[in-house]
Amino acid sequence: MCSAGTRFDPRIGNNTMTTSSLSPAETGVLAQHQAQLAQGQFQIQKCQSCHQHIYFPRELCPHCGSDDVAFVTPSGQGTVYAVTTVRRKAAEGGDYNVSLVDLDEGPRLMSRVSNCAPEAVHIGLRVQAHVVVTDGQGVVLFNALDGVAP
Ligand SMILES: [Zn+2]
Repeated sequence: MCSAGTRFDPRIGNNTMTTSSLSPAETGVLAQHQAQLAQGQFQIQKCQSCHQHIYFPRELCPHCGSDDVAFVTPSGQGTVYAVTTVRRKAAEGGDYNVSLVDLDEGPRLMSRVSNCAPEAVHIGLRVQAHVVVTDGQGVVLFNALDGVAP
């Protein structure tokens, strides 16, 4: 079960993994990835040598060391692997969840299930990725796929 109820705030979620650690001088796949997110596109990489999927983007495949990695569009579907609730005063937006999601393609990423009350997010919940763009920066969030009222 997953019931709606959390006030939506796209600023929280996986931004520590997407933007805050980057300096303006960084280019390459991370800059490419940020540009994709800013256009609302969620892309991961696939190694052309060992065919494993990669996320967060890297210059080299972490599985086999090949530099022949290409961006591909994932299904966006995944399963919650772990979840924790971050407590916050109601005046500051209320509690929210931080979830580790295993994409169907393999990679695991830290994000947030944004269409659920924090206590409704549980291990094994099936979720679908979407990109929320705020002030020109995109973050990947997830929506629960089962039992959610629109
Ligand atoms: Zn590889």
